[in-house]
Amino acid sequence: MAAYDYDLFVIGGGSGGVRAARVAASLGKRVGIAEEFRFGGTCVIRGCVPKKLFVYASQFPEHFEDAAGYGWTVPRAAFDWPTLIANKDREIARLEAIYQKNVANAGGETFQSRAVLVDRHTIRLEAEDRTVTADQILVATGGRPALHPALPGSEYCITSNEAFHLAELPKAIVIEGGGYIAVEFANIFHGLGVETTLVYRGTEILSRFDMDLRQALHQTMEKKGIRILCHAVSEDVSRRADGRLEVRVTGGEVLLADQVMLAIGRVPNTENLGLEAAGVDMAKNGAIVVDAWSRTNLDNIWAIGDVTNRVQLTPVAIHEAMCFIETAFKDNPTAPDHDVIATAVFSQPEIGTVGLSEDDAAKHFPDLEIYRAAFRPMRHTLSGRDEKMLMKLVVDGETRKVLGAHILGPDAGEMAQLLGIPLKAGSSKDDFDRTMAVHPTAAEELVTMYKPTYRVKNGKRID
Ligand code: FAD
Repeated sequence: MAAYDYDLFVIGGGSGGVRAARVAASLGKRVGIAEEFRFGGTCVIRGCVPKKLFVYASQFPEHFEDAAGYGWTVPRAAFDWPTLIANKDREIARLEAIYQKNVANAGGETFQSRAVLVDRHTIRLEAEDRTVTADQILVATGGRPALHPALPGSEYCITSNEAFHLAELPKAIVIEGGGYIAVEFANIFHGLGVETTLVYRGTEILSRFDMDLRQALHQTMEKKGIRILCHAVSEDVSRRADGRLEVRVTGGEVLLADQVMLAIGRVPNTENLGLEAAGVDMAKNGAIVVDAWSRTNLDNIWAIGDVTNRVQLTPVAIHEAMCFIETAFKDNPTAPDHDVIATAVFSQPEIGTVGLSEDDAAKHFPDLEIYRAAFRPMRHTLSGRDEKMLMKLVVDGETRKVLGAHILGPDAGEMAQLLGIPLKAGSSKDDFDRTMAVHPTAAEELVTMYKPTYRVKNGKRID
């Protein structure tokens, strides 16, 4: 065997890359990992973590309002954006240091550098102007927000990357997109007092989620004051003399905003990475093509996480990293399992979901039982907040297996995590029925819906 500098070299210090590097190093492998920006990657630096901190910040105005019904008098509250940014940045820097330190503590070597492939065993560290060699190479370079060069004035637009570092909180924002990042940021900015418009070319926000939840969230967001324009796109963005932006949307209406944020999808980071030189196959959209075990067409080069464009979520990237370790270093070939992934949208109210939507289930199962409850959660009784919680179970009428569970309301993300376990285990509706309720909670509704609200037979709803 050729003598390489490393047993494993990882390109990209995000969720997947750091996990793989740390675990391989702890197995005694000689590991190097290069990160061109900041260790922690998208999730820690400009994704899940800062996003969730912003979500918490944006929820306070409703908490203050709701307090009155419980007897509290809350003096007029004031918000300071620079304080939120500074505190968020401090927390992110703390996490970044932990990520880097964990690799080093396990015995891995970290490089603050862009890394590119020279050939199938050689990596160029650009910041150090030298090459290193490795037996196995893992590409975990993630993705970045898609830009929109065809949009006139797109140079005035920001993406989620910049939204985390705005010098000033805008008075008004237009967000282009209808996916979870667009929807979450619309709620964040609205909660912080920004006049917010969501412009989405599709029929309804959040495609791929259950239609009931999509429609109910849409209505609730509009009731809160977020403007949502579906079947619409921004056609032109221009800057006025006073610095504000004008956005002409489908139909000719002109929206006035201080920021325009594009959240129209993400693209894999594979450009100028030396993949062609090394001979690694890529899909048309730039994603690295891998087999079920995350191996590329070259047997010593692997890819995991967002760069492979499978399921773009942090826990998935981490799971793929752990499976890669089993396959490459433990002689235990393990394919990542992408079936039944619980997930959340940190909108306000939140969405928590696992398994098949009603529409998707109807495509594969001829007889469905749908259990659906819409109710005012107890916490909104004294507060007077006019917001309903929605819970829905999609059940196979033939086997009684629960195929999908969908929740809209407070703490829905937390509930989805727990519902992920019975759904992964293949539990039946009878298992749910046999489960004692926890009272008084909102989640008890999940085990107390005894009669189907309606059935869906061969795709047709039967009440
Ligand atoms: P990344 O975490 O993106 O890491 C890739 C790293 O590689 C980056 O640090 C990059 O700088 C580095 N890199 C790229 N090229 C090179 C190179 N040539 N040399 C060296 N380094 C390089 N997921 C969830 O599960 N829950 C959420 O709530 C959630 N919220 C999100 C919110 C936002 C706004 C965004 C943008 C994403 C969110 N995600 C969420 C998705 C999640 O962040 C990603 O799925 C996850 O980070 C993917 O991990 P990864 O290891 O594949 O890539």
